[in-house]
Amino acid sequence: MPRKPRTSNISRSDYYDITFYLQHYACFHCRKAFKQSFDNQRTQRLCPQCRQPMTNMGTDFKAPAQKEVAQWRKVQSLAQAGIKFFPQWPDGRPGERPDTLAEIPAFLKQVHPPSEGEQMLERRSQEPQRPQTPREGKLSLQGFAPHQTFRLSGKMLITGDGVQVFHNEGWVNAEVSGHGNNPKQPSHLRTFKLVGNKLYYAETVPLDGTLRLRWPAT
Ligand SMILES: [Zn+2]
Repeated sequence: MPRKPRTSNISRSDYYDITFYLQHYACFHCRKAFKQSFDNQRTQRLCPQCRQPMTNMGTDFKAPAQKEVAQWRKVQSLAQAGIKFFPQWPDGRPGERPDTLAEIPAFLKQVHPPSEGEQMLERRSQEPQRPQTPREGKLSLQGFAPHQTFRLSGKMLITGDGVQVFHNEGWVNAEVSGHGNNPKQPSHLRTFKLVGNKLYYAETVPLDGTLRLRWPAT
């Protein structure tokens, strides 16, 4: 059986470095590109003007004009995503590149499809925000006063429970209270008010089926 030819696994940028093609190093600070040959010391190339590290953009990189700030931001975004301008198989061209900065996100999504987790996070961020406030509950009554029991969203109201009642145009905190001895047969609510940092009982509200109630947020 013939032996397979050895395949090198060096990256294309190394290949062009080693073959001494002139590289196009970009300085995103000055918005300029400089052609330089392979540097076998592998040191960071510094911009001849500002001495900041430059980025090897590949042999086919065509630098935008210095005043085209958006175009420079575009190629910088590409470089940061690892997309350079080296000739690619099969036609020896670097491949399609977006024309404008605005096309970058869609382009990168196409080149590097987001993982399942990233897609899930993105979907979640697009969902409408859940309301921060608790939902109004459904109040149901059983029996007859004074031996009446109440359920709020299916959970029995027991003396001492904290609930919120819609009272005087707003939701206020209240405590479930009763006149009798049976905590499962409350008769009224006592609303709270905050004075300074102390809670005081404010008003007594008879418990009946007309009240709008909700359990406080947990
Ligand atoms: Zn520079």
